[in-house]
Amino acid sequence: MAAKMAVVTGASSGIGAASARALAAEGWHVVVGARRMDRLEALAEEIGGTALPLDVTDAASVATFCDAIPACDLLLNNAGGALGTASIAESDDDEWQRMWEMNVMGTLRVTRALLPKLIESGDGQVITIGSIAAREPYRGGGGYNASKHAVAALTRVLRIELLGQPVRVSEIDPGMVETEFSVVRFGGDEAKAAKVYEGCTPMQAQDIAEAVAWVASRPSHVNIDQILMLARDQTSAQVVHRE
Ligand code: NAP
Repeated sequence: MAAKMAVVTGASSGIGAASARALAAEGWHVVVGARRMDRLEALAEEIGGTALPLDVTDAASVATFCDAIPACDLLLNNAGGALGTASIAESDDDEWQRMWEMNVMGTLRVTRALLPKLIESGDGQVITIGSIAAREPYRGGGGYNASKHAVAALTRVLRIELLGQPVRVSEIDPGMVETEFSVVRFGGDEAKAAKVYEGCTPMQAQDIAEAVAWVASRPSHVNIDQILMLARDQTSAQVVHRE
């Protein structure tokens, strides 16, 4: 029997790459998308998947990506991230717009384009990586909070609108995970990014990937609606125990 097809956006690093590996290990054929093709191609070779270029902020790129995928049983909406930690008073329009495009419009475009194939599969699944920032506003979180709250709203509306169709919709909201997330957020400043994880034990990408694989492997009649996953050392967005 042909392997079921999973599509993972933002698979060139962090949670996306780990999830692609975890799904492949469970027998899925995984199509991995992102902008950094060198990394994607190495990953696709490692897991026996397919690498395709994808910029979720570019409607034409999303259309080309989705058209190249013959069938889709599972979509993992993972591409995204945060830019900066400016207060609302000091906020930067460009950062807000880029986060909105990457997190909200990106998720919307890819989901909408793959929906007919997910329905056609007869047993489709959409899993979206949200964030604790989708549930809890925090100081300096402005644009990221707004965009991840919107991603959560989109995901929950989709779940309602697909009632009666053979497609499940799930949201996994992680707290602190040690990936390239903070390096990107701080514009490449590795020392500043390292401070985020200093003195505590954050989750690793693999931890979230295991949750993705678990959600993906529930029986068809079970929909895991939402999961909030935090490190033991974190109880809310800005409450972290450090040694
Ligand atoms: P990461 O290591 O920085 O990975 C982000 C991924 O998104 C990369 O593969 C990147 O690939 C891709 N991406 C960014 N912009 C893109 C675009 N325009 N088009 C296509 N792909 C794009 O960070 P991560 O922690 O794994 O983040 C994955 C998801 O988890 C994000 O949605 C993030 O908001 C969420 N999250 C992370 C944390 C955390 O603490 N790490 C917590 C909660 C939620 P390219 O740059 O190659 O395109």
